[in-house]
Parts: sequence; C-alpha cells; structure tokens
Amino acid sequence: MIERLEALRQKALSEIKAAKDLDVVELIRVKYVGRKGELTSILRDMGSLSAKERPKVGKIANDVKLALINAIEKKIESHKKSLLKDDNILIDYTLPGRRDFSGKKHPITLVYNEIVEIFLGMGFELAEGPEIELDYYNFEALNMPKHHPARDMQDTFYVENDWLLRTQTSPVQIRVMESQSPPVKVIAPGKVYRRDYDVSHSPMFHQVEGLMVGDDISMADLKGVLTLFLHRMYGEDVDLKFRPSFFPFTEPSAEVDIQCVICKGKGCRLCSWTGWLEILGAGMVDPNVFKMVGYDPEKVTGFAFGMGIERIAMLKFGIDDIRLFFENDIRFLDQF
Ligand SMILES: [Zn+2]
Repeated sequence: MIERLEALRQKALSEIKAAKDLDVVELIRVKYVGRKGELTSILRDMGSLSAKERPKVGKIANDVKLALINAIEKKIESHKKSLLKDDNILIDYTLPGRRDFSGKKHPITLVYNEIVEIFLGMGFELAEGPEIELDYYNFEALNMPKHHPARDMQDTFYVENDWLLRTQTSPVQIRVMESQSPPVKVIAPGKVYRRDYDVSHSPMFHQVEGLMVGDDISMADLKGVLTLFLHRMYGEDVDLKFRPSFFPFTEPSAEVDIQCVICKGKGCRLCSWTGWLEILGAGMVDPNVFKMVGYDPEKVTGFAFGMGIERIAMLKFGIDDIRLFFENDIRFLDQF
C-alpha cells in the first residue's frame, strides 16, 4: 500500500506540474483528492490493514494528501500571477474605480417628511401612539363594536387577548382626545399592520391620521385643509373630487379622488380608465366617538382624515407595486 501511495504521489505531482490551465488543475484535484478520487479510495482500503501497519500507512497517506493539496494551491497561485503578466490579457488601468454608494433617504421617508411639513405649516401638531394597541382604541372607541362588519375590512393581526397590531392610525385620535380638551389639531403618522400582501398591499405600511376639533369646525374646513394639502403635494393644477362614502367613525364621510397623475384624467390602466385615483378618506367625527372620549357633541364638532403614505408616494412617483418600497433594491432606491 505504501508503494501505491508513493506512486500516486509522483504521478499526481507531475500531472499538476504539467497542467496548462486551471480547468485541468481542477480535474486533477477531483481525480486524486475528490470524494471519489484515487487517494480517497486507497484510504478506504486501510480497513484491511493490521493494527500495527495502519498508523504508519495513515501518516504517509496524509502526507501525500497534504502534498497534493499544497501543490494544487501553489499551481493556482502561480497561474493567476502569470495571467496578470501575460500581454494577451488586457487590463485597462484607466477604468474608474468602484463607486462608493452614498446613503439617501428612502422614498417613504421623503414623502412622510413632506406630508408632516405641509400639515405643521397649517398649524397641526404631531401626535403618536403605540403600534401594539388595545382592541378598544383600534375598533371599539372608533364606533366599531365587536360585531361590527367594518372590522372585516381590516385583516387584523391579533397578538393576544385584547391586544392587536393597530390596523390604522385612527386610535391615536382617541388617545389624544382622552388626554386633552378641545380644541385639537393633530396629525399622527406611523406604521400600521394588516394581513394582506400583493401589488397594492403590504403587511406593514404607513398612514397619516389627521384630526381637527373645536367650535364650528365644518365640512368646509375639512375641504379647505385637504385641498390645500393635496395641491401642495401634487401641484396647484390637479383636480380633486370629494365623494360621499362610509366610515364607522365619521358622519358624514367622504373619499377624496385626485385626477390621475399618469393620464391627467384622460383614462389609463392605473386609474382603470376613470381618470380618477382614490387618495384618502375623511369625514366629520361621529358624535358617538366624541361621547366615548368625554367630549360634548352638542358643543364641539370636528373632522378626521386618514391616508396611506405608500399610496401617496406611489401616485407621486408613478410606482405601480408597493413591494418595491420594502425590497431594498439599491437600483430602485437610488432613483429618489
Ligand atoms: Zn389614468
């Protein structure tokens, strides 16, 4: 067996020495030290040796293996060096080096900041609330008791007992009204969660909630504030449409559409050939909600609105798949 090992060593080393390129070197490696290689199969035969011979032969076999691996590594190294010297290989030393990427703000952050800035400019204050929320704040205090069918529209992640991941930023308006007396003028941006995932839904997304409560706040104020906001966001010339709708926590309720940002109202795939895009929901705060927080609905009125930040961003930048925001593809993020 020792003779077989020595013969193998000589043969392999001379083959490695003669190899002309790295493909051949790889073939040699597989042939001798690969899992089904010659050396491996000799080692497998060691079981038939006597206990006295085995350590001696084992040591030689190991030496041979190390010698071959060493020789192969050296061969690869010297081959690479010779490639660099070879005149046939063209290296263009004038090519620019690899560019460092500088960090940029995420498109959602850009739009988030822009929304906040517009509302702060109108005298709104920032409010925030917890993302793990009580059922009471997320639903019940918003006029959605346990059996209310509107709960079905919000595929909720429940945590345990009465705790859930908030499906909307609306619970923040309840928390704000519970902790201060009118007048109130706040916006509450933040993350919300729903069990939903496709081109226009993500299990985590961002919303901004707005609330204005005081003496004689009317639908006209709602319309004025939202018109100003959307004109700042999309330009003065964009047409808006206020459409009746339903939300459990506002009465009356409205949805706001903007003229399609792609076709400018002519009709295209994005707007389903209607020329309009739904952008936010709003309405006058329901008297039941005021009662829940201890405000007197005979004395104060107010409006609330809510919108998805991803939606605002998609329409602003003409993006048709919400998932792009969360895939962290640098080629996408680099465009903003
Ligand atoms: Zn369109």
